[in-house]
Amino acid sequence: MAKNYSSKINRIRTFALSLIFIGFIIMYVGIFFRQSPLAMTLFMLLGFLCIIASTVVYFWIGMLSTKAVQVICPSCEKPTKMLGRVDMCMHCKEPLTLDQNLEGKDFDEKYNKKK
Ligand SMILES: [Zn+2]
Repeated sequence: MAKNYSSKINRIRTFALSLIFIGFIIMYVGIFFRQSPLAMTLFMLLGFLCIIASTVVYFWIGMLSTKAVQVICPSCEKPTKMLGRVDMCMHCKEPLTLDQNLEGKDFDEKYNKKK
């Protein structure tokens, strides 16, 4: 996988990775219900669904990364990718914005939401 994704993409990737772990844990718990085939099947199915969801999220990251804008951070002068109107530099956590109206304002996730 390509590196240098924005902090937002990194966060989504962490979420996808944890989904895989949760899926495996649920499947593992299912082993303790061997006496009840119904419960075991349910746990296995639930764990499998988590892993499927994680795959979907990974696919979504791929889509998002093509939309990310590459910018040079004004603070550390390293290239970083940003998503949406505001994002953080992935090297120095400097808040970045593409919107001139928001320049100088405090970093706020809500600027990304559509009104
Ligand atoms: Zn930076």
